[in-house]
Amino acid sequence: MDIFKYMEEHGHEQIVMCSEPSVGLRAFIAIHDTTLGPAVGGVRIWPYETEEDAILDVLRLSRAMTYKSAAAHIPFGGGKAVIMADSRKDKTEAMLRTYARYVDTLGGRYITTTDVGSSTMDLEYIALETKHVTGMPISMGGSGDTSTLTGLGVYMGMKACAKAVWGSDSLSDRTVAMQGFGKVAYRTAKHLLKEGANLLVSDIYTGALETAKEMGATVVEPDGIYDVTCDIFSPCALGGTLNDRTIPRLRCSVVAGGANNQLLTDEDGAELHRRGILYAPDYIINAGGIINVSCELGDVAYSVERATEMTERIYEAMERTLHVSSRDEIPTAQAADRMAEERISSVRQLRGIYRSR
Ligand code: NAD
Repeated sequence: MDIFKYMEEHGHEQIVMCSEPSVGLRAFIAIHDTTLGPAVGGVRIWPYETEEDAILDVLRLSRAMTYKSAAAHIPFGGGKAVIMADSRKDKTEAMLRTYARYVDTLGGRYITTTDVGSSTMDLEYIALETKHVTGMPISMGGSGDTSTLTGLGVYMGMKACAKAVWGSDSLSDRTVAMQGFGKVAYRTAKHLLKEGANLLVSDIYTGALETAKEMGATVVEPDGIYDVTCDIFSPCALGGTLNDRTIPRLRCSVVAGGANNQLLTDEDGAELHRRGILYAPDYIINAGGIINVSCELGDVAYSVERATEMTERIYEAMERTLHVSSRDEIPTAQAADRMAEERISSVRQLRGIYRSR
């Protein structure tokens, strides 16, 4: 992989490699763009097969964070970290604290939080080594688990899509097929079940499936989830699951989920559009977590009411995306990118005006 070429083409500023064999740490931290503020994004702990897989993932994820914060009108840039390890077997206090020391060397250019394979409990270890961490437990004065509001935002995004497709935003009796039943899917499911939706769920971890069954969901084989007939297909596991092999299998009217980087390529967003499937751009509707931490890092004291109110506005953000998509006759994914890029370029311009500090 030609890393510099990739970074130049996609606008990345920096990538950091971190190694400490004694604790099994092999990590990459990527900072995509800091025009709007410090790069904020979670640390993913995942057993990548190759270094190239990990680098590509961290570069794609960090870029998505830039777009997510830009579209959510948050003063953050985009960053992400990945640790090449199995969180269920390899994660230790020493590994997390060593990772945190590397985060600290970036002096606040990157602020870390949770993602797949990391939890708020892990952040307590990280906070022992760096103050550049957010999403801390509520008991420690933080804003708590980011997935709570991410789940709320995904649900609000689904409702806005339902309104556009079926004329009513009620999800009662709608069938939602969820791929992955981790932290975000669980939180989203709670809202869906409360409203009377039916859930079909797949996961590769039996513990997650047990929880889904207890909540009343029907379990589907991991690969079979693409083929089920449903109203909303909801990718809530890893990225790249919407691609030229899976899209032709979908039997839904809407795709709306919590996973980051759902589209493998831009062409996949265009293909969903061509097929008449409404795609809720991932970073528009999964922004609840970053909105929550923006309230923790802001100048005023954290308030759950404020964070919830801001997350509920994802409904309007999704409606704006649909408006731009239909006005400019472009797929929703492209509409979201256009909105985010317009914000970044307008802020870059105003930064050109000198003011004394
Ligand atoms: P998680 O680790 O709690 O859950 C992910 C789940 O997906 C796990 O249960 C895992 O077993 C399952 N999974 C993995 N591969 C699968 C496959 N092929 N088929 C079915 N299930 C599979 O992580 P999470 O925090 O819920 O995050 C889920 C997604 O949402 C990720 O893409 C993450 O980047 C994104 N996201 C999370 C947040 C947040 O606040 N946690 C915010 C925004 C976006």
